[in-house]
Amino acid sequence: MFAFRDRAGGADLAFTDRHGGASVGPWESLNLGTSNGDDAASVERNLDDLAAAFGADRDSMVRMSQFHGNDVHVVASDHDGSVPRADALVTDVPGVSLLVRVADCAPVVLVAPDDGVVGVVHAGREGVANGVVVRTVEAMRDLGAGPVHAWIGPRACGACYEVPAEMRARVSAIVPATHATTPSGTPSLDLAAGLAAQLSAVGVAITDLAEHRAACTIEGVDDYFSYRRQGQQSGRLGALVRLRP
Ligand SMILES: [Zn+2]
Repeated sequence: MFAFRDRAGGADLAFTDRHGGASVGPWESLNLGTSNGDDAASVERNLDDLAAAFGADRDSMVRMSQFHGNDVHVVASDHDGSVPRADALVTDVPGVSLLVRVADCAPVVLVAPDDGVVGVVHAGREGVANGVVVRTVEAMRDLGAGPVHAWIGPRACGACYEVPAEMRARVSAIVPATHATTPSGTPSLDLAAGLAAQLSAVGVAITDLAEHRAACTIEGVDDYFSYRRQGQQSGRLGALVRLRP
């Protein structure tokens, strides 16, 4: 169920793997995505089971309709249960769980442990280029966040995430730390390195899941879903954060 769990201040956070769910076939088993062909009832059960394992209230779990943009949605205490179109969520409301879903894009969890503000970010190639993680830190600071800590979760690594040379040139012109090369010498992008550079530049401390265990979705055949490896039917991993009520 969980590839990694941690606590910081009054916040709980977790990153999922592909184990412990109800889905079968290419989505086996803890698929959290709803637009990849999986059975809707199985995904609902997976989300229920995830909330229970995380110790959270399913009705207070907020997810988003992600579109590779840089819109940050602030979840207030009167949130109506809708699914905002955004690539980042922030909140200062205890008991609300924020969920980001990914397959190769990087999930980022943000916590201001002293100030009770948390966030999640969906950052793929476009998200790194459009600075979504920096905008999310700004939104947290607008809610009163002081020092912020970031956790960067399972994603396509710089050795595996091969892209056309023009794409590497475009993204690395904006975020130089993303510039990478595969072992065979072809162009690639290192999303986590780009995110770490962006976060460091705005004073955020970082824990990369790769410091604790293997964190590449393309290489992690047994533990992770990967869009590059599985295509349209790839399942989705998740990352969660909440302030304990
Ligand atoms: Zn890799």
